[in-house]
Amino acid sequence: MINIVIFGPPGAGKGTQAQLLAEKYDFLHISTGDLLRQEVKLETSMGLRAKAIMNRGDLVGDDIVVPLLSRALQYRTTHPDPLNEQDPWDKEIRGEQHRPEGCIIDGFPRTVQQAQTLEFLFTRLKRRIDLVVAIEVPRDELVRRIHERAAISGRADDTEEVIRHRIDLYDQQTQPVLDYYRVSGLLVTVDGSEEIPDTNRRICKAIDLRMGRL
Ligand code: AMP
Repeated sequence: MINIVIFGPPGAGKGTQAQLLAEKYDFLHISTGDLLRQEVKLETSMGLRAKAIMNRGDLVGDDIVVPLLSRALQYRTTHPDPLNEQDPWDKEIRGEQHRPEGCIIDGFPRTVQQAQTLEFLFTRLKRRIDLVVAIEVPRDELVRRIHERAAISGRADDTEEVIRHRIDLYDQQTQPVLDYYRVSGLLVTVDGSEEIPDTNRRICKAIDLRMGRL
């Protein structure tokens, strides 16, 4: 089982790439943004607390994000709670027969503290991170994509002003996380300035190399 973390600023296409990779390699895709949006939609206590923070484009507290991620990772091996019928994702990750080839984590860690937490969570599950992929896109291109996305996405945190704030946060808080992984030799950076299939090819190459397929 291979465990991959994917990074990229808003507009880099990290969610799209994570989804494509999950399909191609049969990986479980865990997106903390999706987990949070699901909580918001279901109006759980966590969702209600997270909603305004997400709409501003700020980072939700670890007291909310970490339990969600921990639950998502753990469900692979144990299923302590009754199935939540309203939660399609809950059903998906508990598919009894299905054992994915690996997992791709998108949206976490966003701070060095979260990187340390992830290491702790993985150690507890007797697993480790095998590869960290960072999609890099020049700021000009991100801004161009933001204009496009803001017009069509329908996400409350996809207004131009909020996305710019999210890019700034990425630069300030998430870039140090990349340095953290660079030191441990896990980091691969990929040019994401071209079309989705181009970026996808580059990431697949990095994964195949790490899996010993090339
Ligand atoms: P994303 O879908 O990854 O762009 O995340 C959407 C929003 O969810 C972010 O702007 C944050 O408000 C929140 N979020 C997602 N992941 C995290 C995280 N690891 N830590 C804190 N907030 C997060």
